[in-house]
Amino acid sequence: MLIVQKYGGTSVANIERIKAVAERVVKTVREGNQVVVVVSAMAGETDKLIELAHQVSPSPGEREMDLLLSSGERITCALTAMAIQAQGEKAVALTGRQVGIITDKVHTKAKIEKVSADRAKKALEEGFVVVVAGFQGITEDTEEVTTLGRGGSDLTAVAIASALGADLCEIYTDVEGVFTTDPNIVPEARKLDKISYEEMLELASSGAKVLQTRSVEFAMKYNVPLVVRSSFNDKPGTFVIKEDKDMENVLVSGVAYDKNQVKITILAVPDRPGIAALLFKSIADANIVVDMIVQNVSSDGKATDISFTVPRTDYQKAVKITEDIARELGARGVTVDENIAKVSIVGVGMKTHSGVAAKMFETLAREGINIMMISTSEIKVSCVVDVKYTELAVRVLHDAFELDK
Ligand code: ADP
Ligand code: ASP
Ligand code: MG
Repeated sequence: MLIVQKYGGTSVANIERIKAVAERVVKTVREGNQVVVVVSAMAGETDKLIELAHQVSPSPGEREMDLLLSSGERITCALTAMAIQAQGEKAVALTGRQVGIITDKVHTKAKIEKVSADRAKKALEEGFVVVVAGFQGITEDTEEVTTLGRGGSDLTAVAIASALGADLCEIYTDVEGVFTTDPNIVPEARKLDKISYEEMLELASSGAKVLQTRSVEFAMKYNVPLVVRSSFNDKPGTFVIKEDKDMENVLVSGVAYDKNQVKITILAVPDRPGIAALLFKSIADANIVVDMIVQNVSSDGKATDISFTVPRTDYQKAVKITEDIARELGARGVTVDENIAKVSIVGVGMKTHSGVAAKMFETLAREGINIMMISTSEIKVSCVVDVKYTELAVRVLHDAFELDK
């Protein structure tokens, strides 16, 4: 079999862990498999590099930021290849550029456009383990180094698995798989044996960082067989697969939370066609992804408030754009709320069952948790609440939908 194994930050946190990774890789090779390894930076390393950048500049250039951040993965990539060599197998370490990951030009959150995997293919045929630095790519014409957004090594792994037609993409992390909610917050959370791509996608985009959202999107689109497992033991993990019949019987399969959003409100803008279009086009042009949007009906038919959420990392940029537009339109002003969190419940069973949203609202109300914004999809309900209630909300929802059973 051809297997892609991705190891996250805690799995390569120190030399001892890197040697343990090499052992698992070597064992997989000796069982008769071809292996591509994708590694993250050592745990905490990316945060440390971001911190260093902010020590030298209040607003570091994004191009240089990418060059800086890509170095974390290069270190673990080289060390992992050396550790595999030391255990007696052939290994070659490749950067994102060397392995042929071509991206668009959007620094710090680039999208993969294609993977030219010829070099990896050839190395595998020659009996090498290919060790790839995750989270990074290169633009096609100008050859600028880019990174793929936080958690982006998951995407590197899935994209390479797809390009090579791998039989399996294994995501090794510090938990035993995908749980009904973050097991570090709710100890009663239950590990799932399998989950559909759709549910995993909603959980990921709702903040469950066990898999990066775009990696799930990519896996779903190209049918990459995916499993999430622990690098600390040999338990089977969670398979992410196409939806099957018995999944529909489960009303809610997971609860997620996201503290990485900020709410922006533009006050008293004219209530006429084109206003929302103008505002959100300007924000989109700055490559900022808006998540939730609420527009109130104006009581007098003249002015209305629009609230929306954006990722914390982009919010200063978004506020500036919104303030410019507010001035242009003669709006009353712009307010920002940084102390929010989004709590979501996800399940394909919602397609065929009613009353799920009502039960969520009731459960939050019983705890005195006020809901500031609501959004829904076919298989998800999200509520924005005060950040101080995040853990409480996750716990009571997990309990109300009996996810520990
Ligand atoms: P890695 O460094 O291996 O990429 P991450 O920290 O990105 O690991 O993702 C693993 C973490 O995801 C877990 O430690 C856990 O706290 C968190 N997490 C959030 N939601 C879930 C969930 N539903 N199931 C499992 N883990 C989750
Ligand atoms: N090192 C990067 C991060 O911390 C990418 C990754 O770990 O997947 O976001
Ligand atoms: Mg991760």
